[in-house]
Amino acid sequence: YNSGSGSVMWFRKGLRIHDNPALEYAVKDSNRVYPVFVIDPHYMEPDHNAFSPGSARAGVNRIRFLLESLSDLDSSLRKMGSKLLVMKGEPSEVLIHCLKMWGINKLCFEYDTDPYYQALDNKVKKYASTAGIEVFSPVSHTLFEPAEIIEKNGGRPPTTYQAFLKLAGKPSWASSPLTIKLSSLPPVGNVEENEISTVPTLEELGYVNVGQDDMSPFRGGETEALKRMKESLHNKEWVASFEKPKGDPSAFLKPATTVLSPYLKFGCLSSRYFYQCIQDVYNNVKKHTSPPVSLAGQLLWREFFYTAAFGTPNFDQMKDNRICKQLRKWGWMHHLARHCVACFLTRGDLFVHWEKGRDVFERLLIDSDWAINNGNWLWLSCSSFFYQYNRIYSPVSFGKKYDPEGKFIRHFLPVLKDMPKEFIYEPWTAPLSIQKGAKCIIGKDYPKPVVSHDSASKDCKRKLAEAYALNQKLNGAVTEDDLKSLR
Ligand code: FAD
Repeated sequence: YNSGSGSVMWFRKGLRIHDNPALEYAVKDSNRVYPVFVIDPHYMEPDHNAFSPGSARAGVNRIRFLLESLSDLDSSLRKMGSKLLVMKGEPSEVLIHCLKMWGINKLCFEYDTDPYYQALDNKVKKYASTAGIEVFSPVSHTLFEPAEIIEKNGGRPPTTYQAFLKLAGKPSWASSPLTIKLSSLPPVGNVEENEISTVPTLEELGYVNVGQDDMSPFRGGETEALKRMKESLHNKEWVASFEKPKGDPSAFLKPATTVLSPYLKFGCLSSRYFYQCIQDVYNNVKKHTSPPVSLAGQLLWREFFYTAAFGTPNFDQMKDNRICKQLRKWGWMHHLARHCVACFLTRGDLFVHWEKGRDVFERLLIDSDWAINNGNWLWLSCSSFFYQYNRIYSPVSFGKKYDPEGKFIRHFLPVLKDMPKEFIYEPWTAPLSIQKGAKCIIGKDYPKPVVSHDSASKDCKRKLAEAYALNQKLNGAVTEDDLKSLR
C-alpha cells in the first residue's frame, strides 16, 4: 500500500498545468502524485439568506467559473495519466488528514499572499514540519516576490506605482524560458474512495433554480484562458498601442480590454507566461506603449497592489491601516466603469464607506481578488494612493461621453430599453408622455434618483477639502482661519 515517494500537489489558485513550478516539483522524483483540491463549504455552498445567488463569500458566477476551471484541470490531468482528487471540509484539516493517510514525503502548493491563505498555510506547514514532510511553496502567482520588493524598499511597500517600477526592474525569471507543458504525471496512489469525489456540478453543490439568463458569458479554465490570451495577443498592433484609460468602457459584446482578470485571479493563466507573451509581441514591433498605460503596465498594476497589500497590515480596512487616510478626519482621499461606481458610492456622491462597496465587489466579481479589489477601492475613495478628490465622475456625462446611445444601459437595464437616447442617462427628466411611451414610469418602474449629483458632489468635495486641510493643519501648514474659509 502506498510505497515509494509520494507527493501532494495542493491546488488552490494556480489552476493550470503550464508554468506551474509547484506541480513540476511535486512530479520530480516521485512515484505517486496526489493532485488535491479541497472544497471549503463556506466558500462554495449556497447561502440562501444572501442578497443574490451564491455562497456567503462568492456570487454564483464566480463559483461556476471555479467549477469550470476545476473540470478543465481534471480533464488535463486525466490526459496526463492522473486526475483531480476533490475533497470537502476545512482545507487545513483535510490536508493534514491526507498527509497522514497517504504516507507523503513532499507537499507542494503555490505561495499565496492573501491573509486567508497565509493563516491556512501556516497551520499546514507547522504539521508538515513536525511530521518531517518537505514543503515546497514557490511564488508563481505574481511576476515578482512581494517580500523581496518590500525588503529592497527598507521593509515598507512602495506606495506609488513609479516607485514600485523602479524597485521592481525586470523579473528575475524572465532571462530563462518558463516550463510551458508537462507531458505526464506519475499515477495517483491508493486513496479512500469514499472521501474523494469528482468535480461537482452547481446542482450537486446545492444550487437550484439558478437562472441561465443572468449568467456571466465568461467560461472558466486553463484551456479557455490560453485561447483567450492568444486571441487577445493575435493583433500585434492592438497590443502595441494598448493605452488605458483610452478605450470604450461601455463596450460589452466586444470588451475594450482582454477580460483575462478572472483567469489571472484563479491562476488558470500564469501572469508570468502572459507577461512573456506580451514581451514577445513588443520585441516584434517598432514601437509600443509603456507603463502605466500599456498592457504590460496593467499587469504591473496587479503587482503593485499585491506588493502594497502584502506589506500593509489591515490593508482591507480603514482602521489600523497605516497607509489609509481617514476620509472624514484626514482627508485625501481615485478602471473606468468600476471607477465611476466606486467614486459615486464613496467620495463622489453618496459618501458611503469604501469597505461597503468593496464587500459587494468582493462577493460579486468573478475576478474578485483580495489585493487588487482592496487596492482599487482605497485608490478610488482617495483613502490611499490617489488624492485628487476634485476629480469626480458624473454619472450622467460619463456615460454620454462613451455611449451616447445608451447601449450598455439598455442591455443591462431592460426596463430602460425604450427610453429615447436624450433621456437615457436622466430618465427622471423625461416628460410623463415619453415615460409612458417607453413603458417606464419613474418612481414606479424605475427608482427616482437617490441623490442630486450637483449638490452631493459639491458637498463631498467640501468635506474632503476640510479633511485635507485638517490634515495639513495637523502637519502645521494651515491655520484655523484657512479652515473656516472652506466652510
Ligand atoms: P486588462 O486591461 O486587459 O489588463 C490585463 C490584466 O492586468 C488584468 O486582467 C488584471 O489582472 C491586471 N489589471 C488591469 N488593471 C488593473 C488594476 N487597476 N489594478 C490591478 N490589476 C490590474 N481587478 C481584479 O482583477 N480583481 C478585482 O477584484 C478588482 N477590483 C477592482 C475594484 C475597483 C473599485 C476598481 C476601480 C478596479 C478593480 N480591479 C480589479 C481592476 C481592474 O478594473 C480589472 O483588473 C480590469 O478591469 C480587468 O479587466 P481586463 O482583464 O480586461 O484588464
